[in-house]
Amino acid sequence: MKELLNRIRSGKLWRYAGGVFPAERKHYSNKTAIGQAIIPEQLVIPVSQHLGESADILVKVGDLVQKGQPLTACNNFRALPVHASSSGTVSAIELRPSCHASGIFEQAIVINTDGLDTWQPRSPRDDISSLDKHQLIDIVHQAGIAGKGGAGFPAHLKLSGKADIEVLIINGIECEPYITSDDVLMREYAQELFQGIEVLEKITQCGQTIIAVEHNKPEAAKALEAFATDTRQVKVVPTKYPTGGEKQLIEVLTGMQVPANGYAIDMGILMHNVGTTLAIKRAVFDDEPLISRIVTLTGQAMLHPGNRHVLLGTPVAFMLQQHQFKPTSQPRVIIGGPMMGFTLPNFNAPVIKTTNCILAPTEAELPLFGKERACIRCGECAEACPVDLLPQQLYWYAKSQDHEKLEEYNLFDCIECGACAYVCPSEIPLVQYYRVGKAEIKTQTVEADKAEVARKRHEARAERLERDKQEREAKHKAAAEKRKAQLQQKSDNTAADTQKDAVAEALARAKQNKASDDDSLDPAAARKLRKEQARAAKAAKQALENEQSQSEAVKEDKAISPVAAAIARAKAKKANNKAEDEDNGKTAAKTSQNPAVAAAIARAKAKKAQANDSETQHESDVADTEQDETAKTHESKASKNTAVAAAIARAKAKKAQANNAQAQAEAEAQQESDVADTEQNETAKTPESKASKNPAVAAAIARAKAKKAQANNAQAEAQQESDFADTEQDETAKTHESKASKNPAVAAAIARAKAKKAQANNAQAEAQQESDVADTEQNETAKTPESKASKNPAVAAAIARAKAKKAQAKGAETQHESDAVDKAENETAKAQESKASNNPAVAAAIAKAKAKKALQQAVKDKAVDDSGHKDKTMAVVKEDVRPKPKSAAVAAAIAKAKAKKAQQQENDH
Ligand code: SF4
Ligand code: SF4
Repeated sequence: MKELLNRIRSGKLWRYAGGVFPAERKHYSNKTAIGQAIIPEQLVIPVSQHLGESADILVKVGDLVQKGQPLTACNNFRALPVHASSSGTVSAIELRPSCHASGIFEQAIVINTDGLDTWQPRSPRDDISSLDKHQLIDIVHQAGIAGKGGAGFPAHLKLSGKADIEVLIINGIECEPYITSDDVLMREYAQELFQGIEVLEKITQCGQTIIAVEHNKPEAAKALEAFATDTRQVKVVPTKYPTGGEKQLIEVLTGMQVPANGYAIDMGILMHNVGTTLAIKRAVFDDEPLISRIVTLTGQAMLHPGNRHVLLGTPVAFMLQQHQFKPTSQPRVIIGGPMMGFTLPNFNAPVIKTTNCILAPTEAELPLFGKERACIRCGECAEACPVDLLPQQLYWYAKSQDHEKLEEYNLFDCIECGACAYVCPSEIPLVQYYRVGKAEIKTQTVEADKAEVARKRHEARAERLERDKQEREAKHKAAAEKRKAQLQQKSDNTAADTQKDAVAEALARAKQNKASDDDSLDPAAARKLRKEQARAAKAAKQALENEQSQSEAVKEDKAISPVAAAIARAKAKKANNKAEDEDNGKTAAKTSQNPAVAAAIARAKAKKAQANDSETQHESDVADTEQDETAKTHESKASKNTAVAAAIARAKAKKAQANNAQAQAEAEAQQESDVADTEQNETAKTPESKASKNPAVAAAIARAKAKKAQANNAQAEAQQESDFADTEQDETAKTHESKASKNPAVAAAIARAKAKKAQANNAQAEAQQESDVADTEQNETAKTPESKASKNPAVAAAIARAKAKKAQAKGAETQHESDAVDKAENETAKAQESKASNNPAVAAAIAKAKAKKALQQAVKDKAVDDSGHKDKTMAVVKEDVRPKPKSAAVAAAIAKAKAKKAQQQENDH
């Protein structure tokens, strides 16, 4: 650093290789003061006017804007804002032709100016001592200041470097022919220029400032020297093209070269253009953003060349018009100088921050490039190159698009000065080839950067996947090892248990062998023990089979439970009848005072018991039949199932038990009947035994028997008449009853006969109800077999036979009951007649009943014969039916005679 300062402070200047000395032609425009350009009607302000990223648009169409108002805002530090160059209205935000060699359209804010040129509120300052470096840099940034030397690099980025700045170089060389904007600026704004230097020195804290001015600008150098100090020196350097280049100027001032692919700031040197320095001064002190610049309008096609303060966004065409541009047959406008400038393809492109000159040369003044010829490898280009490059090699590589070779030959060190092309005898536009080559490499680099990013992302993803895979494999391996260890431990435990079991088995065998040894000492005890073990095993097996059979039997019992219930009801009914018989026996004992009645009652009981037994027998037969059929069906199934066989066996046992109970009941009934017969016989034998000793008594007994038989006949007839009277003529029966009421004995006999009849009817009704219930249950039971029988014809036939037997039993039961009642009534009637034979009044009543019955029978016969005169006959019958006491007496006498006659006939026999 010290050497650098010493070199600069020594006042010595150095030379650099290369360079050319083209015609300057600066006098076209440096003879007049800087003028103020007219505000155009429309300003076209490109959003991006610098080297770097653009900012965000803040306005929209229709907005009113003031001069100096920001139109865009910085979204990052590398971006630069743009401002309204004059007041007006935003009329459009659209693509407009750019001030570029390509003529490409770019985004621009179009402002229709109002002509008032109204500034936005500003805050100018005279002292910057209160502002620090960062504040100053921010002001520079917000002012949108870009390098005015030509590249358009943001000024605040240069000022934000971290390197220590020792030397500040203010570049006032302006070596490009025709351009005089910096020259006039230094002349007219030297004081402000030093104010700008003050800001830069405050920011960079540099120890030395050099203001470099070419030898061909003596007025500017004189103006600057008026403000020069020891630390702010003005250096006048020889005129040579391209001494204005940064690297070339540093080499001239310091004798030191900036390394290839390096920057001056790396040497502690910061360089700014005089126009940039003036813009910084106005931004910091005057609070004016960069909205205008000094533009040289020159060339012989321009009638009034000169320098103007031109608002940024002013169309070039407007400026040409203002300076009376005279288009030629092949009009040509060059932005910049003839060495580094480019031909503007569209005159509507606006003036931007880097536009320092609008050159409108004539064809004679600046001939067009001729037809490109082949390189003759003369080497003139290499000698003219100020960067010591090989322009002809770069040309070949650029033409063949060999980008690697271009970079190898330091294409990007080329400052595009055009010195090589200026000297090329083949008129090869070498700088155009270099620019195209740079653009292709930059595009390729951007694509390569994107591909590199994608590659890194892919590699990172692959690495992550591989890492995850390895982690999973490690996890699985650890789990497998854990499982293997667990299995090994389990196997070890099992082996240990097996060993323990083997030991236990060995011990058991040893004990058994010991026991066998003991048994061997006593063979009889051993056989006994084995037999007991065999019996125990057999018993256990039998218990298991019984248990299974019982479980199956329970199922079968459930199936035949309705039949068992019917059998139980039959048993209960039989027991009930037995109890009633006992009660009746007690009653008979009470009535034993009258032997005839008791005998009749006994016979009635016997018959009733027989009827009950018959009924019970029928029910039992039906149940037996059903059980047999069911048993047969079950037996057929039992052949396949031993459990069913067991159930059938139990059913048969129950049946045998029921038969035994029935036989016992019959035996009891027979015993009772025998007792009754014995009593009756004894009762009958007593008079006979007495009568056998005395003929008179025997005759009396015979007569008594005859009378008894007669009484029986009469009583039977009376009973028939009574039945007839009950069913046909209730009123007649009432009359008999009223008459019988006069004889208490007859009335009692009739009442007892009615009671027995009613009892028989009730018994029959109960039997019928029980039979109905049994039928219902049997039917319900039969439903299941029937449903099963529908699938088994044998079972269906068995059920049909059971039903037929049941119906037959019902008929027999009814007939037995009827006979028993009739016989009981006859017996009762006989007993009554025997009593009535001792009572003439009763005999007379019986005779009357018989006569009445005979008369009714005759009437019926006559009514049948005279069916055509039924009404008349019935009237006669009614008249004849009326009681006739005299005829009844005669009939009674006739009856008595008949009775005696019958007795005599019986005695004769
Ligand atoms: S000056 Fe032109 S002709 Fe000569 S070597 Fe260079 S490119 Fe080729
Ligand atoms: S344009 Fe490039 S190659 Fe040609 S002389 Fe200038 S620096 Fe060298």
